[in-house]
Amino acid sequence: MLTIIGRSGWGARPPTDRTTVAWADRTGFAVHYSAGPPTQTPGQIQDFHMDDRGWSDVGYNFLVNRDGTVFEGRGWLVVGAHAAPHNTSHIGVCFIGSEGDATDAAKESMRLLYHEANFRAGRSLAQTWHSGLPGQATECPGADLRSWVMAGMPSTIDNEDNDVALSTEDINRIAHAVHTRTVRSFVTDTDVQVQTEWRRGTRYAFENRSTLAELLEEVQQLRGEVAELADKS
Ligand SMILES: [Zn+2]
Repeated sequence: MLTIIGRSGWGARPPTDRTTVAWADRTGFAVHYSAGPPTQTPGQIQDFHMDDRGWSDVGYNFLVNRDGTVFEGRGWLVVGAHAAPHNTSHIGVCFIGSEGDATDAAKESMRLLYHEANFRAGRSLAQTWHSGLPGQATECPGADLRSWVMAGMPSTIDNEDNDVALSTEDINRIAHAVHTRTVRSFVTDTDVQVQTEWRRGTRYAFENRSTLAELLEEVQQLRGEVAELADKS
């Protein structure tokens, strides 16, 4: 289960400026490391970015420490300062630490964040890492995290204990939400009703992420097949 410590939870300073984007602008999810000690706090990183670098806020959209605790940085839809010129298109998530410090708990939290981003975007974002983006002269996020992202951010822990049994009513509502989203999105993506249904679906996703991730994959496959059929007819 993904828990995010909000800005007030870690005593974030207010940003001096902020620019927001829409989910439609987001195409990727980029993993970073801070290349500093794993004992650094988000507050210390924010101070460094604001006071030494002169940025408007901590550069990353989210930060994850060794325990797997997730801290809200700029959040989902604020343009970050982590991999120019990809800050509008990419959500930047930073592991607090250096090469070899990333734990299974930290990787699991980043994996859940990635799936959460997909749920919110309503589609799969590209899984990438800082030095994998064009024009980035950096070692970030180091060999270990880079190969983990390249492998598709596999789960590193046993998730069985986190699975929550869903009631029949819940399952029906998820199926309905997914069905509605799949069918109706061919009509219009801006349909308010569709978005309401999708949000209802994502709330249940909090309770059973792995199942929903698989469902989302299936829905996307189905959408592709339906689109193909539509092209042929
Ligand atoms: Zn980086």
